[in-house]
Amino acid sequence: MSTPRAQYNCLKCPGYCCTYPRIPVTDADIERLARRFELTPAQARRRFTKKGGEEGEQVLRHKDDPIFDTSCRFLDSETRRCTIYEHRPAACREYPGSGRCGYYDFLASERRRQEDPDLVLTAWVTDL
Ligand code: SF4
Ligand code: SF4
Repeated sequence: MSTPRAQYNCLKCPGYCCTYPRIPVTDADIERLARRFELTPAQARRRFTKKGGEEGEQVLRHKDDPIFDTSCRFLDSETRRCTIYEHRPAACREYPGSGRCGYYDFLASERRRQEDPDLVLTAWVTDL
């Protein structure tokens, strides 16, 4: 069975998914980041992750963002691309997990509605 064609285009998106405040990281993700930056896993864990959410899971740290309040610390603020693409966490590789991205669907429909192909929604969009 063939994989469904992606109905979204990350190259036309400011990286909504990278602004989600709780992007979980596993021990394997931290080890990959440690290798990339030539750190120990403990150093990488401290530098790049923090405890997040009620469950206290390990999540990526954020930084200030010129479009949204904050974004993942690895998102390039200008290009809106991931700066560690080859070493990104599993959660980032798996998202959105199907042929559609809810964020992109919403963005594309607003761009059509407002007849502005470059429209960027700056309000935080939740529950997509
Ligand atoms: S929000 Fe969707 S379209 Fe935008 S970068 Fe993430 S996966 Fe790609
Ligand atoms: S690691 Fe890369 S893909 Fe994952 S949230 Fe951060 S910028 Fe986005």
